[in-house]
Amino acid sequence: SSSRSSASSKKEKKDESAYYWESYAHNDIHETMLKDTVRTEGYRDFIYNNKHLFKGKTVLDIGCGTGILSMFCAKAGAAHVYAIDKSAILDKANENIFNNGLSDTITCLRGRVEDIVLPVDKVDVIVSEWMGYALLYEAMLPSVLFARDRYLKPGGLLVPSHTTIFHAPVSDPEYVADNVTFWRDVYGFDMKAMQEGMLKEVRVQTMPADALCGTASTYALDLYHVRVEDLTFRSKWGSKLTRDVDNVDGFLIWFDNYFAATRQEGAELIEAPADDWEAARKDGSTAFTTGPHRKETHWKQVLMLVEDKDGHERKALKAGEQIEGFLSYSAPEDHARGLLIKVEWGGL
Ligand code: SAH
Repeated sequence: SSSRSSASSKKEKKDESAYYWESYAHNDIHETMLKDTVRTEGYRDFIYNNKHLFKGKTVLDIGCGTGILSMFCAKAGAAHVYAIDKSAILDKANENIFNNGLSDTITCLRGRVEDIVLPVDKVDVIVSEWMGYALLYEAMLPSVLFARDRYLKPGGLLVPSHTTIFHAPVSDPEYVADNVTFWRDVYGFDMKAMQEGMLKEVRVQTMPADALCGTASTYALDLYHVRVEDLTFRSKWGSKLTRDVDNVDGFLIWFDNYFAATRQEGAELIEAPADDWEAARKDGSTAFTTGPHRKETHWKQVLMLVEDKDGHERKALKAGEQIEGFLSYSAPEDHARGLLIKVEWGGL
């Protein structure tokens, strides 16, 4: 209904949701994702290197977009693939699938995975590319967890299977000079007003690996077991400085994705960062990283600058010193697909 008396927050929520599906209706965002070779080849290589996991299986592709992952699965020998998307991009998926002669194997269904009734009770495999900035921006993972609990057979396969958030301190005086100090003297004027709120903002930004100044801490999600509640967290972190710095300027956040060929492997997976992995392991498990040590992805990384107003004095630290604190993720009340990230820290 379009009752005028509806609360504005409710209205905003409704509009925001429409905006979300609309944002995936256009070609450019899908082009960006398809051209992200780290991402797309990550899925492709796992699927093609593990055809035995797909051959003869029933697959559910949550948020199929252009249909790319469904087509990988069909080529790998899936018996049937259900390709679901709520966005109008589904029409393109349908055409792409038809133009590649895969219409008998892949069925496109338009709607939210939460609302659609699949013609089968259970599936053997769920594939989805649900990750957003800092992993959880966009809040698509709860839809995948809903489908996991509703549709995945006991012992079924989740692609990807595990994911880990990384968090490490950064010291980069040049970056701070260009992006923070800059505002203190703009053609001779103090424009610090332009900075209001800026330091609290999250910057989607690729950083060079040598900006890192301490070891990374992790928050790992086993996607077979994680619950929606676990996506709101306050997790303790600790970092050992790897070099002398004049100041810790901020924290960098990224994530790795793991594709485990067998469930047993999960525990081992989330211990090792993906950039330590060989591209494909003997058992077929693979991984990719969005971190600063490897090729850039469209997720870039997320930089949070330390606010020096609220009691954080500039402080030189030496290699080997420890810092620690808490990393918190939560959803803002007025923006269900948004993400609030908070980093608390202090010296030891
Ligand atoms: N799988 C494609 C597209 C990934 S983008 C690829 O890898 O290139 C994520 C897609 O998921 C978007 O097209 C979005 O519309 C869709 N989506 C997000 N949440 C969904 C939900 N709950 N139900 C159905 N589709 C969803």
